[in-house]
Amino acid sequence: MGVISEILKGLRVTGRAMWRTNTGQEMVTIRYPDEMRHKPQRFHGRHVLNRYPDGMEKCIGCELCAGACPAQCIYVRGQDNDPENPTSPGERFGFVYEINMLRCIFCGLCVEACPTEAITMTHLFEMSTTNRSDAIYTRETLLMSPDGSVPHMFPDDRLADMAELDTADGWVRATAPSGVAAYEGVKMWQGTPGPADWEPEPTQDELDRASGEDESG
Ligand code: SF4
Ligand code: SF4
Repeated sequence: MGVISEILKGLRVTGRAMWRTNTGQEMVTIRYPDEMRHKPQRFHGRHVLNRYPDGMEKCIGCELCAGACPAQCIYVRGQDNDPENPTSPGERFGFVYEINMLRCIFCGLCVEACPTEAITMTHLFEMSTTNRSDAIYTRETLLMSPDGSVPHMFPDDRLADMAELDTADGWVRATAPSGVAAYEGVKMWQGTPGPADWEPEPTQDELDRASGEDESG
């Protein structure tokens, strides 16, 4: 009797799902890859190394991302910038940058650890390869071009969707980098690739001035 009631219970679930599908309600499956599911704003997909709007690379080769990565899949080596022709605004830039995507668990801790917002994530997730070496994403693949476009590993692939590579991951910081308590809980959305289209955070001077006015007011 117990077995029959379990079977009936299972059939009830199947029947409910069939009813939802036939009446055009929530679809259980989609016809992937002909149809793509809409991804949440904070979806963690393939990484990108960003540039500033003037073309300078954001990565300063500090290796904090590599230190924060729980899967130990990032390898970074910094190199001193040429003072006459710097690659990044810092003393150094990321001369070697590799992510082993076979190890990556897409946790986003590298993004959180980066002090310059150099490494961010996109919505691209079609990354299967037929050999291990293609799964090692190098600086050449990760770094965006000066025009803001991002290289795709397999641009001619049927599943290559450049729009997903251009879609921001919408990661959120709990506090401003300056640690000002007033910014706690404030969402700081930002686009991943391309020129900055969000309001810059206030400088320390502006923050000091604003807090002085608050106290006097
Ligand atoms: S997303 Fe997580 S696992 Fe992947 S490279 Fe970044 S820190 Fe490492
Ligand atoms: S991506 Fe960010 S954290 Fe990693 S080396 Fe470059 S600047 Fe440092």
